[in-house]
Amino acid sequence: MVGCVACQFQIRNRSALPTCPQCGEMVWAWLDEGPAPVPEDLTAEERSAHEKAQAELNQKPAVEEGVSLEATPEVTIEENVKLEP
Ligand SMILES: [Zn+2]
Repeated sequence: MVGCVACQFQIRNRSALPTCPQCGEMVWAWLDEGPAPVPEDLTAEERSAHEKAQAELNQKPAVEEGVSLEATPEVTIEENVKLEP
């Protein structure tokens, strides 16, 4: 199941997606659960690029320990600044 990103028109489609019959949009959002299917007609290069992207998505973000959370102050606050000449 995919939905048009522009008008939410929903279709079921297993092959190449058409343009939206309602508004002509070409971008569809995957609505079913689980990962979007990989099109069968990918070239080997496209397939490896897709798999690499999936692997990167599955990687947990790197956790750095011991990182100081205190931001270095970039603004120096001066007190007793005269605003009037
Ligand atoms: Zn549409």
